[in-house]
Amino acid sequence: MQALVKYATGPGNVEVREMPEPQPGPGQVRIRVEAAGICGSDLHIYHGDIKFPVRPPVIMGHEFAGRIDALGPGVEGLEPGTPVVSETSAYVCGKCEPCRSGRYNLCPERLILGYVYNGCFAPYICVDAFRVHPLPPGVSTLAAALCEPLAVVTHAVLEQGHVRATEVAVVTGPGAIGLLTAQVIAAAGATPVLCGTGVDEPRLALATELGIRHVLNVEREDAAAAIAGLTGGRGADVVFECAGAGTAARLGLSVVKRGGRYVQVGLFGRPIEIDLELLAYKEIQATGAISSHRGSWEKMLALLGSGRVRTEPLISHRFPLGEWKEAFRIFEAREGIKLVFLPE
Ligand SMILES: [Zn+2]
Ligand SMILES: [Zn+2]
Repeated sequence: MQALVKYATGPGNVEVREMPEPQPGPGQVRIRVEAAGICGSDLHIYHGDIKFPVRPPVIMGHEFAGRIDALGPGVEGLEPGTPVVSETSAYVCGKCEPCRSGRYNLCPERLILGYVYNGCFAPYICVDAFRVHPLPPGVSTLAAALCEPLAVVTHAVLEQGHVRATEVAVVTGPGAIGLLTAQVIAAAGATPVLCGTGVDEPRLALATELGIRHVLNVEREDAAAAIAGLTGGRGADVVFECAGAGTAARLGLSVVKRGGRYVQVGLFGRPIEIDLELLAYKEIQATGAISSHRGSWEKMLALLGSGRVRTEPLISHRFPLGEWKEAFRIFEAREGIKLVFLPE
């Protein structure tokens, strides 16, 4: 089968090449990939500047949905033909403190699909059956290609940010992650305020179409004043920094209320300068979110199945695997929102 492979470490070293069709081992299922999302981390693997372990040659890609196509020995409770998604933690140690408490997203030995284990930029992928989740009725595999980022966001908003119905939650960075974050905040009954810059105008317009009533272009509007206006001068109850940009982090810490919460979701890729003293002066509770675990996936699928979070409108481009260079170029130029491969 033709697959998109990172074939050696270092910058570049990616190509579509012939790979053997995988066979499901004991406890595994083979999934026929119907849609696979391109993630910022795929670009980092391409450029060779990612912090997680990558072990080439490896088929790239970790965000996908498809249909079960074959069962390995010993698999029960799953049937061929079932539309499914899979978590991306391909290996965790099972022994460390995070693993034992169910937070295996924090396992220091965690290895990820598309980094070390063969990923989803291919017609077929084999994964452990216990990481597989059937899709709720009415959710297409195209919409479900965004399940992995939606699980990350659900983890950030509900499990790390503990958003409550009465709160005003500021989201910086209206990319795919920010657009999903704002929707999960709204689904939790809280009021999201999505902040972007001039280049984000199309994304902010999409947010409005998705029912996010408060969107701010921080280059044109005074964000602090607008957020003060929405909160009776108090400031945001909680901030989700999804841009992975220093300016956005500094904005977030300035608009969060005294005694409020700050959640880092975006990754900067390098150290940034922020005034940590604000944590003391405002008694801000700061945390972050990385990846997701089983609980996040179950909540995410409930949100997607209920229709309160919509992923399909975020898909701006679809490509066959053979057009990966153009897809990566568009993604990097931020011309799209979510780009997906349709591997067949
Ligand atoms: Zn991803
Ligand atoms: Zn572990």
